[in-house]
Amino acid sequence: MLEKIVTKFGGSSLANAHQFKKVRNILELEPARRYLVPSAPGKRFKEDEKVTDLLYSCWTLNHNGEDFNSQFDKVAARYTDIARDLSLKIDINAHLEEVRAGIAAGNSRDWCASRGEYLNGLLMADYLGWRFVDSAKGIRFDENGNLDEEKTQELLSGLLADGVSSVIPGFFGARADGEVQTFSRGGSDITGALVARAVNADVYENWTDVSGFLMADPRIVDNPAEIGSITYKELRELSYMGASVFHEEAMFPVHKAGIPTNIRNTNKPYHPGTFICLNAPNEVYVPTITGIFGHKGYTVISVEKVMMNNEIGFGRRVLQVLENHGISFEHVPTGIDNMCVVVSSESLAPCREQVLAEIGELVKDSGSVTVHDGMSIIATVGRGMVHSCGTAARLFSAMSKARINVRMIDQGSGELSILVGVDDKDYEATIRAIYHEFVG
Ligand code: ASP
Repeated sequence: MLEKIVTKFGGSSLANAHQFKKVRNILELEPARRYLVPSAPGKRFKEDEKVTDLLYSCWTLNHNGEDFNSQFDKVAARYTDIARDLSLKIDINAHLEEVRAGIAAGNSRDWCASRGEYLNGLLMADYLGWRFVDSAKGIRFDENGNLDEEKTQELLSGLLADGVSSVIPGFFGARADGEVQTFSRGGSDITGALVARAVNADVYENWTDVSGFLMADPRIVDNPAEIGSITYKELRELSYMGASVFHEEAMFPVHKAGIPTNIRNTNKPYHPGTFICLNAPNEVYVPTITGIFGHKGYTVISVEKVMMNNEIGFGRRVLQVLENHGISFEHVPTGIDNMCVVVSSESLAPCREQVLAEIGELVKDSGSVTVHDGMSIIATVGRGMVHSCGTAARLFSAMSKARINVRMIDQGSGELSILVGVDDKDYEATIRAIYHEFVG
């Protein structure tokens, strides 16, 4: 039997009173759901504005010496509507006026943005009759602005040790001096993961407006299949390539603590969603591939040098040039006398000429440096690949049948993914070819 479930609800799940009611119904279905991490109210309809965006713009207006009041009135209306529609007892106006005064007083940008989840947490705690726990007291950032994981674990587990059902607002924490700081956008997922670890939850449920992950981008593949279960390692590979439902940094605390995450849909509460597990040990059937995602817009810097193989330290010197310019490299496929460095074209753009000149200096007259732009990288990820032979053969023959030229191949020894580089123009066709080969 499950004892402790931490639930996190995203902005669209908490956009109005109607959504609040759905959340309460979900909590009532399972008594172990005793901790709730809310986002700020999101969009109610396509053209609507997210409260967090409105708060950022209030801060900017005030910072530029302009009047932010009419913008803040939109924020206030979101909360007063919910409080009125749910007949809440809380005096939300008093809290709203405190926030308005804080913005006018020039409080920090992070503080302003964090009030979206703070106020939503107050409403939710009142609606459920649960305790409100201020995340500024439980989530700690160090003096450099990095999350202090150890201190956070100590503070949060202390605050929640009594097992009382609690609402802990997402997205922010504070430094030791009390200065509020937020995570990056979408960071309430991280708060949920930290709370799950602090209470040693059986499951971390992340409720959103989709029923989990899809095997491919629905803008490319028609009606892609849903992913029922995925391991944290696979998810890391897929989200690195752009599959976004769950904040990348949220994976680490729960993975480390051995807590599974379940992505669920607030609008379809009985749908099982996607289960993110540690290593899926008891599976009867493991699909060969779990998902296919990719990215356009890479540049390949190809370095040729006679007897490169004998020159110890050459690769390091090439990568050092990129490091000196603050560019992260994605892949480094190598040959005997050549190495390729794949970087995002966007990150290279500001210092492209300089980087190429410096790498050129390293090869001087005994080699060459060439550059190819417009490459896409596609990752086919699957824990099932380890158990089945011939996956790579199937993948490449599917590509060749679709007349796609493979520009780069990279498979880690973990056998968790196969990466292929193709021309940007072949990006969509490659994803479709691989999907149809393995999924049908
Ligand atoms: N409200 C914040 C954002 O819009 C954080 C979150 O929703 O997770 O980014």
